[in-house]
Amino acid sequence: MSKNEVRVRFAPSPTGPLHIGGVRTALYNYLFARKNNGKFLLRIEDTDQNRLINGAEKYIIDSLKWCKIEIDEGVSIGGEFGPYKQSQRKDIYKKYVFNLIKNNKAYYAFDSNEELNTMRSNLKKEGKAAPQYNSISRSRMKNSLTLSSKEVEERLKRGDKYVIRILIPRNQEIKFKDEIRGWVSVNSSSIDDKVLYKSDGMPTYHLANVVDDYLMKISHVIRGEEWLPSAPLHILLYQYLGWETETPNFAHLPLILRPDGQGKLSKRDGDKYGFPVFPISWDQNDKNFRGYKEFGFSPDAFNNMLALLGWNPGNNNEIFNMNELIENFSLGRVNKAGAKFDFKKTVWFNEQHLKKMSGEEIIKNFDSGLLKSFKREYLISVANLIKERAKFVNEVEVEGKYFFEKPKIYDEKLIKKKWNDDNKFLIKELLFEITNIEVFSANNISKCFNDFLNKKNLNFGEIMPILRVIVSGIKFGPPLNEIFFLLGKKEIISRIKFALKNI
Ligand code: GLU
Repeated sequence: MSKNEVRVRFAPSPTGPLHIGGVRTALYNYLFARKNNGKFLLRIEDTDQNRLINGAEKYIIDSLKWCKIEIDEGVSIGGEFGPYKQSQRKDIYKKYVFNLIKNNKAYYAFDSNEELNTMRSNLKKEGKAAPQYNSISRSRMKNSLTLSSKEVEERLKRGDKYVIRILIPRNQEIKFKDEIRGWVSVNSSSIDDKVLYKSDGMPTYHLANVVDDYLMKISHVIRGEEWLPSAPLHILLYQYLGWETETPNFAHLPLILRPDGQGKLSKRDGDKYGFPVFPISWDQNDKNFRGYKEFGFSPDAFNNMLALLGWNPGNNNEIFNMNELIENFSLGRVNKAGAKFDFKKTVWFNEQHLKKMSGEEIIKNFDSGLLKSFKREYLISVANLIKERAKFVNEVEVEGKYFFEKPKIYDEKLIKKKWNDDNKFLIKELLFEITNIEVFSANNISKCFNDFLNKKNLNFGEIMPILRVIVSGIKFGPPLNEIFFLLGKKEIISRIKFALKNI
């Protein structure tokens, strides 16, 4: 591995299904890795054991798979820096946190919840907006900075519960460059002495995250904006642990906002707005949440939509497949401002990708009965014709139903309005012309229609819609000559004759 290799990680906590914001973080990491010939890692951050949700880890892996985001190293794959699940790395963190204590960069704190609450409410009473355990308040609390070393030793020996907190310096500027936001500068006095480790042997997110990024040689930390406030603490941890020169580059991604722009799109918003917020289906408490997959979206369209929620390619192109996204992606073109989610636009992306899908690809979604009953070439031609008018792949088979069976019902309104004796007579005459077409090609069929309309001095709208309905049952569809061509002369004649006799 070269020193400059790009290594990024997606580090979700398995506390529920991945929501589309999480998938976008994974996608940007993946695009960045591929673009730079780097590696994409999946690390499961499960240090908060109380919040684990059964099935969430599998869900994350299945979702990435559906999105065609390939994991190079990590949970489910392995790799030379494993294990990649934090609960299996407990022993690793211990060494580092005790090192911090030894170097006076962290300290033991023995305060009970009650004592912490009292401290916080006292600070609130004093007018502090965000009461913190910090350089001032810590001097009034029960920790290894205020207690005698003898007492600390005794407490530890006795097995008293403790946490280890980072010692944040007072009034120090912490500065780092974010790839998306530019320079970020924070005064250390606004940072809490965060808990790094608990007496049950579990590290907290902050410690585990930094230690793992270092040990796994992560070059770029690309994650959601909600982690921006934690970044200065992480920068400080790199310094405290003596890894300053190995500090990764940071990029904090903008939020995905609700359609009305009012706040972050949450997992609950799916119910509220009636669109999916999860990539694939998720079951919880007897409730099923349909994902984009089940809704009929293609992974390509889903990725395309997600990629453009926060990133712009710098030109007017909007349709990208995964390879094109990789080719064009750069962190420099990720926007700072939040991106409003737009479900209509998401459907539009799917429509565009469906048009680009090959007939072969589309018929894979057809019912197996159809695949058995019809020639492959025929099904492919139907798919290619119908895809132009469908939004979802699973609509193609339904929209093209009349290619597989004679219509059973006919558009009632049109029949009432147009299926009169005059028109029946005209259709009979047209049938005669159709029967006379020698080579039944789309061009010749179209010519036959036009000649007939000219000869009879008819407008297209006078007879063609009813012709369409008696052949296909419905008012809308692809060009009629194409439908005729695909169904074939024999079938067309039989359908028209049937209509003349029976409707
Ligand atoms: N476990 C954190 C999360 O769920 C990861 C944050 C990070 O990428 O540093 O989002």
